[in-house]
Amino acid sequence: MNDTTTEPTPSNFIRNIIDADLESGKHNKVITRFPPEPNGYLHIGHAKSICLNFGISQDYPDATCHLRFDDTNPGKEKSEYIDAIKEDVRWLGFDWADNLHHTSDYFDQLYAYAVELIKKDKAYVDSLSAGDIRLYRGNLTEPGKDSPFRGRSVEDNIALLEGMKKGEFAEGEHLLRAKIDMSAPNINMRDPAIYRIKNMSHPMTGDTWHIYPMYDFAHCVSDAIEGITHSLCTLEFEDHRPLYDWFLDELETPAHPQQIEFSRLNLDYTVMSKRKLHELVEGDFVNGWNDPRLPTLSGMRRRGYTPNAIRDFCSRIGVTKKDNIIEMSVLENSLREDLGENSPRALAVLDPIKLIITNYPEDQDEILAGVNHPKKPEEGMRDIPFSKELYIERSDYMEDAPKKFFRLTEGREVRLRFAYYVTCTHVIKDASGEVTEVHCTYDSQTRGGKSEDGRKVKGTIHWVSAKHAVNAEVRQYDRLFTIAAPASSKEQDYKDFINKDSIHVLKNCKLEASLLEPATAAYQFERQGYFCQDNVDSKAGALVFNRIVTLRDSWAKKK
Ligand code: ATP
Ligand code: MG
Repeated sequence: MNDTTTEPTPSNFIRNIIDADLESGKHNKVITRFPPEPNGYLHIGHAKSICLNFGISQDYPDATCHLRFDDTNPGKEKSEYIDAIKEDVRWLGFDWADNLHHTSDYFDQLYAYAVELIKKDKAYVDSLSAGDIRLYRGNLTEPGKDSPFRGRSVEDNIALLEGMKKGEFAEGEHLLRAKIDMSAPNINMRDPAIYRIKNMSHPMTGDTWHIYPMYDFAHCVSDAIEGITHSLCTLEFEDHRPLYDWFLDELETPAHPQQIEFSRLNLDYTVMSKRKLHELVEGDFVNGWNDPRLPTLSGMRRRGYTPNAIRDFCSRIGVTKKDNIIEMSVLENSLREDLGENSPRALAVLDPIKLIITNYPEDQDEILAGVNHPKKPEEGMRDIPFSKELYIERSDYMEDAPKKFFRLTEGREVRLRFAYYVTCTHVIKDASGEVTEVHCTYDSQTRGGKSEDGRKVKGTIHWVSAKHAVNAEVRQYDRLFTIAAPASSKEQDYKDFINKDSIHVLKNCKLEASLLEPATAAYQFERQGYFCQDNVDSKAGALVFNRIVTLRDSWAKKK
């Protein structure tokens, strides 16, 4: 792990089961796995599973966690996704060491296990059409009925499976099914599919196979081959557990892992299913998988989320069997806490207006000292250039301001952060009446923002020296959807709820010169929020910053 948190991981019901299994001697070491299908990019929901599985491997002696690509569907899977998934897992701070696997590594073994089932009369090749298979399956209230092909001989079944494997049949012509019970109350047990024909080459195995194993068969057998002790998955697989156990009871596998289910992470104001993420990306509703508004790990990384914040969030939400929707603000609070603790401060003006100090010498420059981190004196001070012409935030001046407006208006004195007290004398307006310059006088006896006579000012505003300023574009993000549960509307498509104002671009921002340094980490722009350079679009001479998150939860107020 490349950057460790000091907080111990809270226990949960899964860790309690593991503790008991180690105590009783059922296992002497724990092996978990994270088994993504490489059919898209990882999202924050996957992070919950990654933190759970890899977290266990870090906290228990001799424990390991395998990264296994569940690559059984070559039509939808790509090596681009495999690379991205590895990068995301590493970025989160986890390491699979030598335990990188693919379900396709086991295709020979899986096939041999399927033949074993046929020989035990526990599997058969069905030749019903897909439509008939559905009809024969029955439903929740009616039992299914046996396929007329259910009685095929072992020899016929083996020969047919062999032919399917070699590509002698068209897709959908035959299907290998487990022979369990067509009247089982649990529909997953009504002779589920084991192998389907797919005349498609595979990135790892080329054209060797014309059949690919189904998830329910491949997954439990792969777990068993790898000696996984605890196979942790989300609640929708609870109804599949009897099948998981059936396969492993029928087959002579080296181990029988225990499947334990926990609830998925759901977040409000976003969507997380890969199908929907694909739609958003492919339909150009967002700019790629790493769009900073998406809940993908690559999008969040680009936005400026830190691995620490995500791990902290996963630890706070815990692991239970209760289904719920977590508020985005919980995630953002973990983020704020980490950024507040770890990001240096800087001054940046996002909506600039000139401030001219009329009594400051024309050609004078000076260097003032800015505190890098108010809570970390060891991070010291930085140089901030100061001169006669500054930029301040347009909203820090108001004409005819009320008494409680502790910023600039004619006759009012404020502190320029780290600099001087200034008093507004007048403003210059253009023909349309818009303010273009705020004119002030300064008190040279208040250098560093402290007055010698002890006089107090209520407001402190940020600024940037005009001739030293660095230009930048700043992108401010808002929720991607306008309603909390966009995917749960029965009448409307979730895409109807896309927030049209989810990105707000400011082109003319003025940053403190120290931000010219190549910035890989986040900054707090004082009074504004947390920002970092965009890792795709920001270039020397054309800096682009993303607003990671505001200083406070402004969304709570809006609601
Ligand atoms: P999706 O439903 O978004 O397409 P998936 O479950 O099909 O996701 P996989 O690649 O199969 O995606 O997931 C890998 C692992 O991540 C699985 O063990 C799965 O249970 C877990 N996982 C996926 N989504 C979540 C989530 N929202 N919360 C917790 N775990 C999740
Ligand atoms: Mg899936």
